[in-house]
Amino acid sequence: MDQKISLYNSLSREKEAFEPISGQFVGMYVCGPTVYGEPHLGHARSAITFDLVFRYLKYCGYKVRYVRNITDVGHLENDADEGDDKIAKRARIEQLEPMEVAQEYTLAYHLAMDKLNVLRPSIEPRATGHIIEQIEMIQKIIDAGLAYVSNGSVYFDVLKYNEKEPYGELSGRVLDDLMAHAGEERRTLEGSEEKKNHFDFALWKKASPEHIMRWNSPWSEGFPGWHIECSAMSSKYLGEQFDIHGGGMDLLFPHHECEIAQSKASNHTHPAKYWMHNNMITINGQKMGKSLGNAINLNQFFAGDHPLLHRAYSPLTIRFFMLQAHYRSTLDFSNEALDAAEKGLKKLINGLRTAELLLAEEHSDLGTAIDEELNAELSKEIDLVFEGINNDFNSAKSIAELYNLLKRINSIKAGHLKTANIRRDIFEKLLNTYVSFNHEVLGISEAKMLESMNILPLVDRLMENYREARAEKNFVMVDKIRAQMKEAGLVVMDGKNGSEWAYSE
Ligand code: ZN
Repeated sequence: MDQKISLYNSLSREKEAFEPISGQFVGMYVCGPTVYGEPHLGHARSAITFDLVFRYLKYCGYKVRYVRNITDVGHLENDADEGDDKIAKRARIEQLEPMEVAQEYTLAYHLAMDKLNVLRPSIEPRATGHIIEQIEMIQKIIDAGLAYVSNGSVYFDVLKYNEKEPYGELSGRVLDDLMAHAGEERRTLEGSEEKKNHFDFALWKKASPEHIMRWNSPWSEGFPGWHIECSAMSSKYLGEQFDIHGGGMDLLFPHHECEIAQSKASNHTHPAKYWMHNNMITINGQKMGKSLGNAINLNQFFAGDHPLLHRAYSPLTIRFFMLQAHYRSTLDFSNEALDAAEKGLKKLINGLRTAELLLAEEHSDLGTAIDEELNAELSKEIDLVFEGINNDFNSAKSIAELYNLLKRINSIKAGHLKTANIRRDIFEKLLNTYVSFNHEVLGISEAKMLESMNILPLVDRLMENYREARAEKNFVMVDKIRAQMKEAGLVVMDGKNGSEWAYSE
């Protein structure tokens, strides 16, 4: 934990030194997906952003408990308090049980995140698995006099809360402004007559007769509001106060604002010390949206299966592309930008091979003619990699500095930079930093690259050469290719109809 990390806290709107509440232990909660559709770029950006945070804190020696939830109930259309539940609606369209929908898209999300080399969180709680905890928390808020029951539903009383605590401290939205829009909001929201004020938000909703997702509660048979799950689950697994709360910028208001109000109303404390928000993604300069026809899901990227894509892009390319931007900047997707990212990624991975080779080799002349100035420069260059990420997790800056290390590594390989001039500890630190930063912090490795590459065409090419060699009776080449195939776990079989390959049994 020698690294001094600073991060931008959305709550204070300032960059602050990262000082965990309890020493080496870090608690981090991130809002996960609402599982009613295919995972898309927005999911990937949030997951990769906080994967970077998770990985780097662990790299620095912190013991991190990372909780990322699955929203499988309560998230209504248009993120509002009225309308259809997103999952229940999909269940009706697909004629499935809501839990089947949640299961299908949770699995799709996991598969896509694995491909993107996003580490699984320490705990992944589901909203439907924590109905009791949510009911208990709602009761505490009612007991504190900050929520009211109306027609079987429970609403958070924002005005009353605001008498004690400032509502809007995270988003900077002032209650006066919210009140000024009361008229128009009331016109657009049906059923809002249950609320005292249009900006009050639902903690519990009484289910209408046709609503399929419902549970018993002291107030009605119904379902929890969208915001309460995160407050209930974060405090259950991380305590009433934890270190980092993350999510996409689109969740800042109302979702995170409401989380803060709920936690303060029931636990009398701010839930999180630091609030981090990743920025949004645009495609060819446009906002992403189904109506705009540019909502490309992750599997379409991986398969190149969308009219806007020139070709397929590997999961690792998508990951690297996202890491090449600071998480608080907007990020624009285009074929050209992805092509450039892929080129850069390959360069970085070739560097991994070189670095690992140099680490494995004997360098008998290492440090025999030390050049102090050179070693100081190298040492500074290594530090700069960490300066990037230490400054609000700026992976873009760290990656730029990794390319500088790579120049040095390639120089050593080419013999332009003499190992005799480099101190052993600096030499090892240079190579180890390059390798470990890529592997552990960025999640970029040759193994992951190979996983996402299609090697079948290569096998076909090898078989073509085999058939040619056999026709020419070049048996040295025939044996060589057979051996190469065997090494890859494949076997060549010569039959009446020519030669084919199979998996060696
Ligand atoms: Zn949440």
